[in-house]
Amino acid sequence: MNDTVDLLFFGAHPDDVELGCGGTIAKLAKDGARIGMVDLTRGELGTRGTPQTRKREAQHSARILGALFRTQLDFGDGNLQTGREQELEIVDLLRRHRPRVVFVSYPDDRHPDHTRAGRIVTEASFYSGLRALPAPGHAHRPQTVVYYIQNYMLPPSFVVDTSKTWKTKMRAIAAFKSQFSIPGTTSKSKEPQTFISKPGFLETIDARGRHFGALIGVEFGEAFVTKQPPRVDDVIAAYAGREV
Ligand SMILES: [Zn+2]
Repeated sequence: MNDTVDLLFFGAHPDDVELGCGGTIAKLAKDGARIGMVDLTRGELGTRGTPQTRKREAQHSARILGALFRTQLDFGDGNLQTGREQELEIVDLLRRHRPRVVFVSYPDDRHPDHTRAGRIVTEASFYSGLRALPAPGHAHRPQTVVYYIQNYMLPPSFVVDTSKTWKTKMRAIAAFKSQFSIPGTTSKSKEPQTFISKPGFLETIDARGRHFGALIGVEFGEAFVTKQPPRVDDVIAAYAGREV
C-alpha cells in the first residue's frame, strides 16, 4: 500500500482541521493531491458527545473532504502531552507518510492544546529529518509547516481561495453532529451548550471565510501563517482581478 501523501493536516482535536482549513483540504483533494489527517487527541474532554461518536464523525468528515485516511492519536485532551514519546510518534507518521507540506494550529492560541499541538508538530517536523535520530524509518523533513488560524487573529501570510469548496467544508463540519447546532436541523439535543455549539458559531465561521475571501477578492477564503514566506513566481497572477 502506498502510504505517502503530499500534505498532512494535524489538529489537536477532531474538528480543529475542518474549522481551520477544511475548504483548503477539499480544494487540494479535488485537484488530485494525496492528503492525510491526524488528530492528536480523541477529544475525550469535549462537553458533548462521546469519544466513540466523535471518532465516527471524524472519519465521516475526512471522507467528505477527500482525505485518504484519518489517524487518531491519544496525547490527552485538555492536557496534550508533548514529551519525547509523543514527538517520536509524530516522527513515525512523518517518516511513513512523507508529506511535502504539513499543516497544524499556530503554536500560540487561546486553547493550550492548540498551542502545544503547533509546537510539537513543528519540532517533530525538524527532528524527523535527522538521519541519526534513534527512531525507525528513513529521515524525512517536510518543506515547511503551515499554520491555520483558530482563536487568535494573526496577519495571514497567504490566503487560499476556497469559494468552490466552501459548501464541502460546511458539510464536513456538519458531520460533527454532536458538537454543533446545525442551522436548518431540528436537533433536540439535551446536551449542554458550549462555545462551539451555540447558535451563531457557524455563522462566525462563515463570516470569517467571507472576510478572508474579501482580502483576496473572492467569495470565501482560508488564511494561513508561515514562518518562512512562500515564493511567488507570478506577482501579477497573485493579485489577479483586484484593484488597489
Ligand atoms: Zn481544538
